Amino acid sequence: MSRTSTWTWKQIRTAAITQATAQGITNCPLCRTWLDYEHQGLPNSPEVDHIIPHAQGGLDDINNTRVICRTCNRRLGGKHGNAKQRRNQAMKTFQPKTPKTSFNW
Ligand SMILES: [Zn+2]
Repeated sequence: MSRTSTWTWKQIRTAAITQATAQGITNCPLCRTWLDYEHQGLPNSPEVDHIIPHAQGGLDDINNTRVICRTCNRRLGGKHGNAKQRRNQAMKTFQPKTPKTSFNW
């Protein structure tokens, strides 16, 4: 484990959602969908996203989070999703028959 803070992502998620409700954020800042704080797993359920992705050096810190809807989170790649699942999805969408446009190096 090499986390810089003692907070787990789960704690950060909870805190971020609590903060969002306290701030009166009722809609997704990206698509303006109304966020359903009562339910999880719906297209408009609130999910916590990194403002700066891990890949770009973003930290697991509440200051680096924002609450967006599940649909937008999925669209952005679900950075906290299952890596294996994402890889499988990438394999499915990978099209080896178009090497000239996809791999132009
Ligand atoms: Zn959205």
